[in-house]
Amino acid sequence: MRPARALIDLAALRHNYLLARARHGGRALAVVKANAYGHGAARCAHALAGLADGFAVAFLEEALELRAAGIRQPILLLEGPFAPGELAEVHGHGLWIVVHHDEQIRMIETATLAGPLTVWLKINSGMNRAGFVPEAVEGAWRRLNDSGKVAGITLMTHFARADEPHVIATAEQIDRFDTATRHLPGARSLANSGGVLGWPAAHRDWARPGILLYGADPMPGEDNGLQPVMSLESAVIGVREIETGEPLGYGARFIADRPTRVGLVAMGYADGYPRVVPDGTPVAVDGLRTRLIGRVSMDMLTVDLTDLPAAGSGSRVELWGRNIPVNRIAEAAGTIAYELLCNVKRVPFEYR
Ligand code: PLP
Repeated sequence: MRPARALIDLAALRHNYLLARARHGGRALAVVKANAYGHGAARCAHALAGLADGFAVAFLEEALELRAAGIRQPILLLEGPFAPGELAEVHGHGLWIVVHHDEQIRMIETATLAGPLTVWLKINSGMNRAGFVPEAVEGAWRRLNDSGKVAGITLMTHFARADEPHVIATAEQIDRFDTATRHLPGARSLANSGGVLGWPAAHRDWARPGILLYGADPMPGEDNGLQPVMSLESAVIGVREIETGEPLGYGARFIADRPTRVGLVAMGYADGYPRVVPDGTPVAVDGLRTRLIGRVSMDMLTVDLTDLPAAGSGSRVELWGRNIPVNRIAEAAGTIAYELLCNVKRVPFEYR
């Protein structure tokens, strides 16, 4: 059997959730959209089911997958409903919805429903992506409240730069949110992962942590005590020696700068490991750090074993996990951990 796999540490997931709730206080929706950031939504939601106050996903089908898997806690749809036809299912499955646009209020006003909806009203406090601008918030709240279709309204906003602790933009967003909602009753929800870890002023009734649950710190380089959940692993499946000056792999990007023992690893960009990372990107072989050399291929990549004489065929390779933070690989790939984690595919997933 091909040795590539993603190991998912569910105890680490639970640790991270509890850490988020302790840091934030109040309640926390575990954000498990996009298949729990690539970790497996149903498995992760079940692992958290005894702990989590609720879950958040992007859209209806993601929530229905969790309901079908037996998840009974509240589930919030972060993108809200797209069409009036969804509202009966939303109500029938006891889902909560984010309302961020006039069109969605019209849907609710004109819907025929068996009972009231639970709504989170989204305020655009500066990200300018979704939500009601501050001047429109009270009007939107009143329309929802007067519709007779809504049982409770939680007020929420989303941060654009909460992962940048020294940037004033988040403090400004908090101020704008507070000013826009000062006359409105109801629970508040501001903090994503960056807000939980870096912005105590954003700690209110509900947090919505995502990336931190999976152990990738939104502020790379800080140590907030998170534990990595996914370990992307494989093994050395062959070893060869090349001489100084010999090329390695596609495009001959790597030219040996010394006699080099090359380890061939069963992992490629078709598995979700990023092709763009340069020579020198860290990998761990049998727990020891070495470097990737040569271009990443579709199914294989190559690593430098010259300084690891004990390593050979069968040696365990960690592409990211406990030894190699996924944030480090994201940096090498010019992206964020979110994208790498969401993109892992083809490899079997093993849950512990
Ligand atoms: N809340 C909302 C509205 C989101 O869109 C997201 C993710 O994009 C989150 C919370 C979770 O964010 P993070 O993964 O940065 O914690």
